Amino acid sequence: MVCFCFLVDQRRKVWRSKPVAGTCSRCGCGASVADIKTSTRFCYIPVYWKSWKAIMCTFCGAILKSYR
Ligand SMILES: [Zn+2]
Repeated sequence: MVCFCFLVDQRRKVWRSKPVAGTCSRCGCGASVADIKTSTRFCYIPVYWKSWKAIMCTFCGAILKSYR
């Protein structure tokens, strides 16, 4: 019998951000442009990484705009 371990999760980590003009549409706080790294883990082993840029809220963390 084969036992599959479907334990997949995603980690999002902001590793660099700087304030930018603009406000959050959700809470009205300041926005910042952030370099984000997303890693997808399968059974706690990272299998996929993606780094991307986005305008996000510094307070609530909402993604206001994302770039490729
Ligand atoms: Zn916000």
